Amino acid sequence: MSKIHNFSAGPGILPPEVLKQASDACINFDNMNLSLLEISHRSKNYVAVMDEARQLVKDLFEVGDDYEVFYLGGGASLQFAMVPYNLLTEKGYAAYINTGVWASKAIKEAKILGNVKVLASSEDKSFTYIPNGYEIPSDADYFHCTSNNTIYGTQMKSFPKSPVPMVCDMSSDLFSRRVNAKDFDLIYAGAQKNMGPAGSTMVMVKKSILGKSGRKMLSMLDYQTHIKGESMYNTPPVFPVYVSMLTLRWLKQNGGVDWIEKINQQKADLLYNEIDRNSCFAGTVVKEDRSNMNVCFLPTKPEYEAEFDKMAKTYSLSGIKGHRDVGGYRASLYNALPLDSVQALVDAMKEFEKKFA
Ligand SMILES: *Cc1c(COP(=O)(O)O)cnc(C)c1O
Repeated sequence: MSKIHNFSAGPGILPPEVLKQASDACINFDNMNLSLLEISHRSKNYVAVMDEARQLVKDLFEVGDDYEVFYLGGGASLQFAMVPYNLLTEKGYAAYINTGVWASKAIKEAKILGNVKVLASSEDKSFTYIPNGYEIPSDADYFHCTSNNTIYGTQMKSFPKSPVPMVCDMSSDLFSRRVNAKDFDLIYAGAQKNMGPAGSTMVMVKKSILGKSGRKMLSMLDYQTHIKGESMYNTPPVFPVYVSMLTLRWLKQNGGVDWIEKINQQKADLLYNEIDRNSCFAGTVVKEDRSNMNVCFLPTKPEYEAEFDKMAKTYSLSGIKGHRDVGGYRASLYNALPLDSVQALVDAMKEFEKKFA
């Protein structure tokens, strides 16, 4: 089997050693001679998995016990609804910035539940930049942003200081770089981009911001239910949480966020330098807002596309087709993607230029 370079935008690549451990656990988990898939989530062996999965998030974010971590089903998309459900008051309003499809969906859900002010938007230029120069009002119930825009390939390189609770959708760049987690009051991430398989969503919340919505809360949609239940109020997504735990353990054991941030920067520099140098390709977003996770680029002539698709096959490049809203190519450089995969893509681009330019 020749090596496939997996640039999939999501579900995305996982470390090979994690896949191996995960597949072993399907047959014989923890030397119990039982599959992880057929034991109680309340068994002591599984409770240990959940506890570690929750603790690893706090360790990697370097936060203390004023934060709680739990894992839910429903994807990051359910968090678009749970965030306003838990934080938005009847008389108040929420402040959002609109940086793409996911941010727009988050705004849509919040508007169903209450009042929303969109402070800034990059929709005027097809979401090819991160807006700045807005001010976060101090009477908002909370401020919501999206750290990395998976579809358009833009990334917030810094975060505003917020006078109100700051909520961030980090689905596609969680633990890819150092952020000051204590500046955030709620961080959520669908696992399937950069921390595990599809099926679970990590939520980390500062306890002190909860319980103020004034709403009569449905149990399953109330963050406090999942804090009290230690992420086991109901049956959690057992296997996805296990694989996310393994991936976070892999990250921590290898040197944590500082280690991966350096590698991620090398990968992004390698690819963006080639995009800028190569006459057959062009980047799609403003340079200072380029994402280190999702690199979007277009062929400079439409007829290149079919030829580069063929070239990509000969280099075993998988998952580089751009999102339908942007077209061209999108190479996702998530944590588990090795540098040599980016090198393979760059080699293909160089050979392409020699042949076709
Ligand atoms: C993929 C993605 C989502 C949606 O995640 P689901 O788990 O499919 O609901 C939300 N936000 C961002 C930034 C994403 O990349």
